[in-house]
Amino acid sequence: MAEPRKKQLFGTNGVRGVVGRDMTPDLVMRIGMALASMRKGTIAVGRDTRTSGPALCSAVKAGILACGCRVVDVGVLPTPALQYLVRQHFDAGAMITASHNPPQYNGVKIIDADGTEMGDEETIKLEQRLFAGSFDVQGWESVGTEVSAPHLIEEYIDAIVRRFPPGVGEGTTVVVDPGSGPAAHSTPAVLSKMGCRVHTVNATMDGTFPGRLPEPSPEGLAALTDLVIRTGAAFGVAHDGDADRAVFIDETGSYVEENVEFALMQRYMCRDRQGYVVTPVSTSRRVEDICAETGCRVAYTPVGSIYVARTMMDMTASGSTVLFGGEGNGGLIFPDHQHCRDGGMTAAAMVGLLAEERSSLSSLAGDLPAYCMIKEKIFAAEPAAVVDMVKAQFADERLDTTDGVRINREHAWALLRPSGTEPFMRLVVEGRDRQSAEALYGEIKDVTGAAIRV
Ligand code: MG
Repeated sequence: MAEPRKKQLFGTNGVRGVVGRDMTPDLVMRIGMALASMRKGTIAVGRDTRTSGPALCSAVKAGILACGCRVVDVGVLPTPALQYLVRQHFDAGAMITASHNPPQYNGVKIIDADGTEMGDEETIKLEQRLFAGSFDVQGWESVGTEVSAPHLIEEYIDAIVRRFPPGVGEGTTVVVDPGSGPAAHSTPAVLSKMGCRVHTVNATMDGTFPGRLPEPSPEGLAALTDLVIRTGAAFGVAHDGDADRAVFIDETGSYVEENVEFALMQRYMCRDRQGYVVTPVSTSRRVEDICAETGCRVAYTPVGSIYVARTMMDMTASGSTVLFGGEGNGGLIFPDHQHCRDGGMTAAAMVGLLAEERSSLSSLAGDLPAYCMIKEKIFAAEPAAVVDMVKAQFADERLDTTDGVRINREHAWALLRPSGTEPFMRLVVEGRDRQSAEALYGEIKDVTGAAIRV
């Protein structure tokens, strides 16, 4: 049987590379040409705050225009804002962003008319056009036209605010750290319109990222934590470089682990309704605990937000009630709003959650079941073979092979899966306590260690 075709250039969330080396205006223009050759009509183009954004944005627009599509340049905005606008108004979108990667990176995410990132099959077609140079280049009478529409982001802001009772944030102080990124305007605006008193840090858009790196890791959030404490805020929220993710600091200054964030938001979204929660096999088992509590069910997907989003849409289309989804990395999907990870919506939902729970974020987080999670990268020349050995070794147990292999036990589980692009595997082990996590971790390492030595 022939190997299924794989994406070569695009990864799990678009194309990314180091600017001037792998990520050049020439490549991005050809991506624009390929996109406009596949999708006719009007294409929205946006970017994050990276220094290379204007050059690469101009390049993608040049490609789109040359192949006869109209361009609406929506300016600097979060990826979920572009996704929202595409679903409302446009035939496709191109977002110039490298998400959480360091400043020297940039890239492109392609958005389809439904607001979701382009799926694997269509992306492979786009790559084939790109590699073959098969572009629909137009003559003078058919090249595209361009308009600028930076004000459209206000529609996204209002769409989020409308989801919550008016004034729900009144009396609540919050702190926003957009990390010098594209939510510097939108997330504070959303929270202000909900009635919150909003303080900000790193809220000047700046592609040199002077305050912290685009990945909102706990070490980079000292300034946010400090401001939360000093202002007596209910929480602090920080985004990654394109604001499709949001992570939180509680009112005591502690970082809320992203799987805990997922569980709290899941309980909030599933409280009064029954249906499905969709998440990758890498998410904490707390998702199952909260499902048991709220009478909901989990549908597991391979790792990658695009698979979560598309599974949610497919299940909804076939008649299932899907209430919530996302990943245990702060990338949460609220399907009543839109089928993509949305950091601004997540910040707003935290205001709604705290208003409904009438409790503090630290006590809500502290009341959840405790787990111990171990994460590790394991280098291996042939990751697939190692995964097969683990499958064979644990064949008598409850296995889930949605992505790599997940071993499910009563007090622990483990996921071993090959990286999509590099010669290593990711191992996640979670247990009710350190002992059960370490026991399973040890058993798996015995097998992988032997496999790698062979
Ligand atoms: Mg991102």
